[in-house]
Amino acid sequence: MSALLAIEDVRVEYRSRERGTVAAVAGVSLDVAAGEIVGLVGESGCGKSSLARAVAGLTAPRAGTIAYDGRPVTPLGWRRRPSVDVGLQMVFQNPYASLNPRRRIGSQLADGLPAGPDRARRVADLLDRVGMPAEAASKYPHQFSGGQRQRLAIARALAPRPRLLVADEPVTALDASSAAQIVNLLVELVRDTGTGLLFISHDLALVRQIADRTAVMYLGKIVEVAPTAQLWDAPRHPYTRALIDAVPRISAEPTLPAVLAGEVPDPANAPSGCRFRPRCPYAVAECAVEPPVRATGAGSVACWLPDPTVPEGR
Ligand code: SF4
Ligand code: MG
Repeated sequence: MSALLAIEDVRVEYRSRERGTVAAVAGVSLDVAAGEIVGLVGESGCGKSSLARAVAGLTAPRAGTIAYDGRPVTPLGWRRRPSVDVGLQMVFQNPYASLNPRRRIGSQLADGLPAGPDRARRVADLLDRVGMPAEAASKYPHQFSGGQRQRLAIARALAPRPRLLVADEPVTALDASSAAQIVNLLVELVRDTGTGLLFISHDLALVRQIADRTAVMYLGKIVEVAPTAQLWDAPRHPYTRALIDAVPRISAEPTLPAVLAGEVPDPANAPSGCRFRPRCPYAVAECAVEPPVRATGAGSVACWLPDPTVPEGR
């Protein structure tokens, strides 16, 4: 079966006067199948959002390919994207990124609908799917709470019947109960419609609850991908293990356990060889060379450690 989304060796670079060329995404491969939830986790600044923007066609990758349903994603710029006939939709942390504050909800949702009669009824159906009353159509975004606005942004994303949703920290700005409702809504939609979901979050515990597979990103690279249960039961990469160890403290602000003391290196000065090397308690001489990506059952890991699981107490 071919993947709905196929990301192949993608590199996203930014140029800045002070720091020169910075590779925010330094060669990432990942795919998402129809009806699959893939979680992408990592500390802030690891390149998750840069990858999401490239997938959405908002940033042109410097190298590599991104294919949606077998066709390359062409960077068009958000405003120039055709608003219908787009099978790939984004949900952002800030719902105002996809809702216009000056237009009524109903007309914004109608914009996203494929052409056809009876738009008012279809707008009401969309609102119903995200648990909002039909009367919401005549209101403006500011008349709703943050959680409600995120529901409306999801309704907007669902209007063109996307086959793939990319949600970048969709609940990070919400209180716990709104966040739980939005997460349940997204999972329900995926299960009901077979939409693929790339769910990007710094919250590993949340991703554990919903993702079929989890990918762990560190400093522009994916260091491990595995079915979520396998990742938690037997994390292969020292960074994955450290993130899992940090989970009880990760929900509010991601903080790292002692083993990860020290700053996340600046991607402008990424270490040579394994990028995790300066923080890794297991580093050996060969880690000065970039580790190959090896298969681990249904997943893969990029680490020189020969043993499939990290040795305890080494
Ligand atoms: Fe640590 Fe070496 Fe594995 Fe990198 S390759 S995570 S430095 S053991
Ligand atoms: Mg981000």
